[in-house]
Amino acid sequence: MSLLVQKYGGTSVGTVEKIQAVADKVAAVKRSGDDIVVVVSAMSGETNRLVALANEMQENPEPREMDVLLSTGEQVTIALLCMALKARGCDARSYTGTQVKILTDESHTKARIQSIDEHNIKTDLNSGCVVVVAGFQGADQHGSITTLGRGGSDTTAVALAAALKADECQIYTDVDGVYTTDPRVEPNACRLDKITFEEMLEMASLGSKVLQIRAVEFAGKYNVPLRVLHSFQEGPGTLITLDEESNTMEQPIVSGIAFNRDEAKVTVRGIPDTPGVASKILAPIGEANIEVDVIVQNTAADNTTDLTFTVNRGDMEKAESVLIEATKELGVQEIVTDDSIVKVSIVGVGMRSHAGVAATMFKTLADENINIQMITTSEIKISVIVEDRYLELAVRSLHEAFGLDKKD
Ligand code: ADP
Ligand code: ASP
Ligand code: MG
Repeated sequence: MSLLVQKYGGTSVGTVEKIQAVADKVAAVKRSGDDIVVVVSAMSGETNRLVALANEMQENPEPREMDVLLSTGEQVTIALLCMALKARGCDARSYTGTQVKILTDESHTKARIQSIDEHNIKTDLNSGCVVVVAGFQGADQHGSITTLGRGGSDTTAVALAAALKADECQIYTDVDGVYTTDPRVEPNACRLDKITFEEMLEMASLGSKVLQIRAVEFAGKYNVPLRVLHSFQEGPGTLITLDEESNTMEQPIVSGIAFNRDEAKVTVRGIPDTPGVASKILAPIGEANIEVDVIVQNTAADNTTDLTFTVNRGDMEKAESVLIEATKELGVQEIVTDDSIVKVSIVGVGMRSHAGVAATMFKTLADENINIQMITTSEIKISVIVEDRYLELAVRSLHEAFGLDKKD
C-alpha cells in the first residue's frame, strides 16, 4: 500500500465532466488499496476571472483582500470533487488551506509555506477517506487567508507530500510530462523520461510554467519523488530526479529550452560614470519591491554610462516612475522602456563539461537574423533577450541546433 499525493491542475478540473473523470480516476486508485490525498486547482480561467473582477473594483486592490477573493476558486473544486467521489461510493473529505492549517508567512499573494499540521489528514486517511485539499492557499499566524503565487497548487501538493512522507507526488496536467520545450510552441519537442531537480529549477525559473518553481525547490529540499503526468492519458510521465550521474553517459549538452514572455526592458541613458551610480539606480527599484532580472552596463567614451535591466512586464511603468523620481539629482539623459522583448534560455547540466555552447547558440540566432539585445549566463544556462516577434523562431531554431527535435 502506498500513500500518493495527486494534484490536478485547472484544465483537468475545468468542467463538470472533467471533475467527474478525475473522481473516477481517484476512486479507482483508492479501490486498488492506496491511500490518496488529492490537491486541486480552481477550474480553468477562474483565477483570471477573479483577478479581473478585483481590478474592476479598485486600481490596486489590497493583497489581503485579493487573497480572500482568489482562494475561493479552489474552495469550489474541492467541494465538487468530494461530492463526485461520494456519488461513486468513495468516502472523501475536503479541506481549505486554513482548515488543514497550512501555515504561511504574511506575504499576501506570494506567501511561503512554513509548516503543515498533518494530524487531521492522517486521521481521515486512517479511517479510509480520500482527503481533498485546496491548492494555492494557506493562512498566516493571524488566521488571514494567504495565496502562494500563480501556479501555487503545485507547491501545496509537494509540501503535503513532504509533510506526509508520501511515496510519490504526482502532478497531473494537460501535457504528458516535461518536454524539451513547451510543446505548444515547438511541436517537435520530446517528452523527457527524467530531468534533474537542478535543470527543472532552471527551466521553471526561466519561464516553463509546467511546474511552479517553489514546488521544485521544495521537492529538492525534502527529497520528494515528483512526477509530471497527463490527467487523462496513460503513460510514465517525467520523473524529477536527484540522480544526475546515472544518465551522464548519454547526457545531452542542452536538456531543454525555456522562454518567458513576461519581460520588459528599462534603459537609463547618459548617467555620469562615477562610483555608486548603479546602486543609486537599482536600490530604489528594489525598495519599490520590483524584481530585477538581467542587468547590462555599457560605458561610452564621454564618461557617461548606460544601464539596462529587465523587470516583469507588469512592473515596467512602476519602474519608470520610480526612476524618474530617483534620477532627478543624477543628471541622466533619458529613461527608455520597451515591453516588446522576451527571454529565451537554453538549460542543461551537460553544459558544465562542454565548451562552445554559447557560440553555437549565438550563431544559430545570427543565422536566423535574430538580434540579441542582452545576454546572461550561469553554469548550466544561457539566456538571451530578443524582440518578442522572434520568440517562436528562436525557440525552434535552438531546439533543432542542439539536437532536441523528435526523431521519427
Ligand atoms: P495546470 O493548470 O495543470 O497547472 P499549467 O498550464 O500550469 O497546467 O502547465 C502546463 C502547461 O505548461 C502546458 O500546457 C504547456 O503549455 C506548458 N509548458 C511550458 N513549458 C513546458 C515544458 N517544458 N514541458 C511541458 N509543458 C510545458
Ligand atoms: N488557481 C491558481 C492559478 O491559476 C493556482 C494554480 O492553478 O496552481 O494560478
Ligand atoms: Mg500550473
